[in-house]
Amino acid sequence: MIDSSSDELGKRLQSVQSRIATACDRAGRSTSSITLVAVTKTVTTEVAKAIFELGVHHLGENRPQELWKKAAALPDATWHFIGHMQRNKLDKSLPLVSLVHSVDSVRLLDAIAAFGTKRGSPVSILLEVNCSREPAKGGFAPEMLPSLTVPEGVKLEGLMTMAAAHDDAELCRPAFVELRQLRDALQQRLGYSLPHLSMGMSNDFEIAIEEGATLIRLGSVLFEGFES
Ligand SMILES: *Cc1c(COP(=O)(O)O)cnc(C)c1O
Repeated sequence: MIDSSSDELGKRLQSVQSRIATACDRAGRSTSSITLVAVTKTVTTEVAKAIFELGVHHLGENRPQELWKKAAALPDATWHFIGHMQRNKLDKSLPLVSLVHSVDSVRLLDAIAAFGTKRGSPVSILLEVNCSREPAKGGFAPEMLPSLTVPEGVKLEGLMTMAAAHDDAELCRPAFVELRQLRDALQQRLGYSLPHLSMGMSNDFEIAIEEGATLIRLGSVLFEGFES
């Protein structure tokens, strides 16, 4: 592991931020319209703390136990949950997170809504959509969105997708375009704004920015070599 106190992480971050800025320029967007979520799932709490101290205050985890541990150590971070959420872990996890990106079934949607109703304030969520239509991948089929109802107890803020892995990031573009179009249609049907598109990972974030991402979820481009 590279020493987390070294300047290396700072340099990584600077390079990522400059790539974000270049993609924003190309797309005619402001960098303030993009939130970088550092995905800390492969690194220790110490490295998560280091990126937080470098100014990245939005952190993402995909496993409840890891979230509990890191959120306890870094309570001032804004935590995003991006993985599969078992319903028996909701009560302990939801109070820690500001946005659940990965609501991937009606059963989970209903369980989260029940939690939000019980506590008296809605849970902010995104619906995960399987735009790449890989059978092994979770998420709503795009065809399901037109008939989906949004229960009380959640605040739907937008959509999330994971593109299929491609050597050429350009091949991810159609999935991102589709997610944006699905968001536009859903927002029109529901009659309220869905501001967020969570799309773009280390290999494809610049394309995602060009296609309207507001939340990019970056792990390896920041943390490769820092893994625990
Ligand atoms: C791990 C993970 C990421 C980060 O992936 P990288 O390719 O390492 O940037 C983003 N989103 C989700 C849902 C993940 O599980």
